[in-house]
Amino acid sequence: RKKRRLTKEEYLNGILSRDRFILSKAITLIESTRDDDRELAKDIIKEIPKKDDTIRIGITGVPGVGKSTFIESFGLKLIEEGYKIAVLTVDPSSRVTRGSILGDKTRMEHLSRNPKAYIRPSAAGTSLGGVANKTRETMLLCEAAGYDMILIETVGVGQSETMVKEMVDFFLLLMLSGAGDELQGIKKGIMEMADLVTITKADGDNVKQAERAKRTYKNAMHLFPPKPNGWIPQVTTSSAIKNEGMDDVLSVIKKFVSQNRESGHFEENRKSQNLYWFNTLISEELLDLFYKNSAVRQKISSIKSGVLSGNIDASAGKDKLLDIFLRNSL
Ligand code: GDP
Repeated sequence: RKKRRLTKEEYLNGILSRDRFILSKAITLIESTRDDDRELAKDIIKEIPKKDDTIRIGITGVPGVGKSTFIESFGLKLIEEGYKIAVLTVDPSSRVTRGSILGDKTRMEHLSRNPKAYIRPSAAGTSLGGVANKTRETMLLCEAAGYDMILIETVGVGQSETMVKEMVDFFLLLMLSGAGDELQGIKKGIMEMADLVTITKADGDNVKQAERAKRTYKNAMHLFPPKPNGWIPQVTTSSAIKNEGMDDVLSVIKKFVSQNRESGHFEENRKSQNLYWFNTLISEELLDLFYKNSAVRQKISSIKSGVLSGNIDASAGKDKLLDIFLRNSL
């Protein structure tokens, strides 16, 4: 039997009636690079009802800090509390053929079998903005499908945190005790983004050290400039294998959300995030159009070698190529 493409209405109805199979198919559509898929995906995103009563949490930390173990334990806690959760990832290394840092199937075994959790690994893609935007759109679909707590995981080593920060309400940084920030490869900028730092693996011989790290980070957090919403970043300890400290994390998040809803910062933040994506997507699409333009592709390498050898000034080379683009793009 020939497979029929679902219509926009079938996708929308399926998502709204919380059909996981159709939700997954819709996400595959979002991730697709085929033009007709992209068009349909855009229409779905445009029409899907947007939720403002959900909670979006970004979770980051270096490989080995315990992210997936933490999310498994914390996720089960959230489900116990009545939430339906979606776990999404932004992983720029994710490629169909290359595998990824975050997305293998053996992770979060219990959570992945739980009907109140929906787990979806990162989309693949060449530009970080594109990959991250697909996660953002996936999040919107998950919310429409009734998932009210969204966890977005990323590796704390690069640019992807900034993008995740721009799609979540609350940002959680997981840290190891014992290793300095430098050793953990966590940049000061990422520390600064955190609304909560949780020291992981606070169990067994590690408890004392974790408590010590907690005090150190508490002091360090005061050195950062105050946040516009007045929130003072918190520090907690947790043990995912012993399921300890998960209630602390949840109560910090609840406090943050209620405080920010009250002050209007919650909604304000989501609004300015929309503007961020508007700007980011314009930049990305223009760059894409530019470098895909056949006239640009024909001339770019000779102009580049001219710039490299010093025969063409950088700015003049730019003018030349932009001119070629503008004359050949309409
Ligand atoms: P990720 O790379 O950040 O996702 O880290 P994983 O969740 O895969 O954990 C890395 C390693 O740390 C694994 O060997 C885990 O068993 C271990 N680990 C994770 N959480 C805990 C914890 O709460 N306590 C202890 N002692 N080990 C943990």
